[in-house]
Amino acid sequence: MNRDSFTYSGSPSRVVFGFGSVGRLTEEVDRLGVKKVLILSTPNQVGDAERLREILGSRAVGVYDGAVMHVPIETAREARRMAAELGADCAIAIGGGSTIGLGKAIALDSRLPIVAIPTTYAGSEMTPIYGLTENGVKKTGRDFRVLPKVVLYDPDLSVGLPPAVSIPSGINAIAHAAEALYAFDGNSVTSLMAEEGIRAMASALDTLRDDPRSRTAHWDAMYATWLCGSVLGQVSMGLHHKLCHTLGGSFDLPHAQTHAIMLPHTMAYNSEAATEAMEGLSRALGVGNGPQGLYDLLLRLGVPTALRQIGMPAGGLDQVAELAMSAPYPNPRPLKHEGIRALLQRAFDGAPPVA
Ligand code: NAD
Repeated sequence: MNRDSFTYSGSPSRVVFGFGSVGRLTEEVDRLGVKKVLILSTPNQVGDAERLREILGSRAVGVYDGAVMHVPIETAREARRMAAELGADCAIAIGGGSTIGLGKAIALDSRLPIVAIPTTYAGSEMTPIYGLTENGVKKTGRDFRVLPKVVLYDPDLSVGLPPAVSIPSGINAIAHAAEALYAFDGNSVTSLMAEEGIRAMASALDTLRDDPRSRTAHWDAMYATWLCGSVLGQVSMGLHHKLCHTLGGSFDLPHAQTHAIMLPHTMAYNSEAATEAMEGLSRALGVGNGPQGLYDLLLRLGVPTALRQIGMPAGGLDQVAELAMSAPYPNPRPLKHEGIRALLQRAFDGAPPVA
């Protein structure tokens, strides 16, 4: 957090939160003044999309259920074409970051307003960040045209998430907030949101491990998703997001699991250069040492702690370290090849984090 001076811009999106908030969808669509809605989902969430079609009645003009991870440009073009052919004046994305990312790709091109209904904890719905993958390379950018106009958080929608998806997804949310705590462009409001987001998510995940359908834990996790996604949208991310982006993009590793495995190590790398942030992280987790607390949380939750467990080849670590050094980005501790290579090795092996 920058204590000298700061600029704060609140997100202009409208957030409707609570159990059953999907029931307010038609009200929200009418409030936007739109009449022809295209609904987006992944193939395995087409049932959720069809349920929205029923709720919307004649306002729904179609369902595009081809969303996939990392928004391939071909998928974006196909969905944009369908929106244009149907004369859609709004798109509703129901799902995780992949489906919301597809909505953003449509908005970038057409300025269609997006309504996002998140069902994971990735947090994309609160950010103006988009990504598009062309010829195997994912490019990201920031543009307020892609920020959803309305976000409906309905904790009932994530109750069916299997723990293998919900738990890494929750750590992915914690990662946004953890890096926000030391962002050079952070401020006291983003730090408050970040610390509360980490606290609420960590406590929700501990409950979800034993009781994956706990409605109170799903409420807490969605609340934390809103907080963590909001800070991701407002401040700059550092080493952690850069390394995860490189690992995911170059080796096609699963997004949320990669974040979960890397987080204790990237926090440990930055710990001595960001002591105030580490105090916030430790407070939020209720532990003495934030990075170790994150590692213990992963062990307790029973999710993978080693990159080798999720398909990372040992021979790729040098390349990731080099890519992480190749473009400058803000980070509290200066980037040193040796240090980054060493933290990647620990993450590969599943060893505890070392400051
Ligand atoms: P995802 O959207 O790919 O979802 C993972 C799988 O879970 C999908 O098959 C999905 O259909 C399924 N699923 C989602 N919700 C479900 C539910 N409630 N019940 C059953 N199945 C469900 O995964 P993700 O981690 O949410 O998103 C990852 C993508 O989002 C990545 O491409 C990442 O780069 C992007 N992302 C972008 C931002 C941003 O600000 N632009 C932020 C975070 C993540």
